[in-house]
Amino acid sequence: MKTTLRAALAAALLASLPALAQPAAEVTLTRLECGSGVNDQRRFSDVFAYTEPKMPFTYSCYVIKHGDDYMVWDTGFAPGTNPSAPKVSLGDQLAQMKVKPEQVKFVGISHFHADHTGQLNTVPGATLLIGAKEWAEITAAKPMAGANVAGFTHWISGGGKVEPQALDKDVFGDGTVMILRTPGHTPGHQSLLVRLKDKGPVVLLGDLAHFHENYQNNGVPGFNYDRAETLASLDRVKQIEKNLKATVIVQHDPRDIGKLPAFPASAK
Ligand SMILES: [Zn+2]
Repeated sequence: MKTTLRAALAAALLASLPALAQPAAEVTLTRLECGSGVNDQRRFSDVFAYTEPKMPFTYSCYVIKHGDDYMVWDTGFAPGTNPSAPKVSLGDQLAQMKVKPEQVKFVGISHFHADHTGQLNTVPGATLLIGAKEWAEITAAKPMAGANVAGFTHWISGGGKVEPQALDKDVFGDGTVMILRTPGHTPGHQSLLVRLKDKGPVVLLGDLAHFHENYQNNGVPGFNYDRAETLASLDRVKQIEKNLKATVIVQHDPRDIGKLPAFPASAK
């Protein structure tokens, strides 16, 4: 009886650690240009820390390859919608990478603003990984101001699968790609941790901070949803950065473009 119990416990333990039983999937991370422009830096501090009216901004999309599966993280502006919109679409850039939209299993978004969700429709077959509180706002009778509801039409109508995330999410079940809860900019804002074999851990911040100065000095834009949540999320990511010796990428800061290889090359 004892032996049977021990065997059952061992089996249960192994079942909870599937990653150990399989060879690790190769994981790569590629940055795609999804827009560029300038912004008034003064808008990004609720304590009037800045004076620069024209600060360069970049708009980044990312592709994560995990074994044979792909994930897209943030989708930028839709081409042609405004002067900062990308010249080359997400779909065309995926094609340059020889990735078909139907190979994209997940589309994760940091939050619901248009500069992160403008090209969701490029991957209609992908499961949408969105913060639960974001999804609640998008589908509310009166959605929160600034939410790009139109970008989600396919998923709101039931055409695509959606998994609203209330907690952190281990996307592929082996710890290599993790969505981190980092609320504050918006109610259900998320960042992404990608653990690469050679480069090491990388955190894609989303809009937890919009440029280096705000990340370093715990700056909070006046238009953020919640100041205290923003500060708590910044503290969380800074501890992750320290503990994992992670590379932190501020998605809108052009100075961080060079932290990953130039498209179509990928970090491994
Ligand atoms: Zn943004």
